[in-house]
This record gives sequence, C-alpha cells and structure tokens, in this order.
Amino acid sequence: MDEDNDMDGETLYCICRTADSERFMIGCDHCEEWYHGDCIGITAEDARHIKRYYCDACIGHEEIWWFQQAEANVSTEAVYKLL
Ligand SMILES: [Zn+2]
Ligand SMILES: [Zn+2]
Repeated sequence: MDEDNDMDGETLYCICRTADSERFMIGCDHCEEWYHGDCIGITAEDARHIKRYYCDACIGHEEIWWFQQAEANVSTEAVYKLL
C-alpha cells in the first residue's frame, strides 16, 4: 500500500481524502481505491446493479472505458466474440 496514505495510522479514502469509513463505500475494480457513494453520486441501491465500478481516474484509461461501455451495451457473449 501507499505509505503516504497512512500518516496517522488512518487510511484515507475517496476523492475527499478522508478516513471516514462509516458511510456506504464502493471500491474501484481497477485501482482498488474506495470511494464514498455520496462523493461520487452512487447510492447503495445503485451499487447493487453495478458489477464493476471504475473510478473517474481509471475511466481516463481508454481500455477501461471501452470495456465498461461494452459491458453496458452488449451481452457478455458478444464481448467475448469481439475479443
Ligand atoms: Zn468521500
Ligand atoms: Zn480506479
């Protein structure tokens, strides 16, 4: 893990860089960073329908963006055919 995140023995999360882990959080499936649902506009209810979550930083990577779009728009079977 990144030691910069651990200055006071607390792990900092999310775009807000706080150690608050009492709220609903979702983990990015690419960088494995944790984000507060309310900071990124995702509710616990939304998350039940999200198979994989990629944060804004990771969405900047083109292959991730493509994969997420592909998952959203076509069946898994069709994705495998494309690959
Ligand atoms: Zn936050
Ligand atoms: Zn990420």
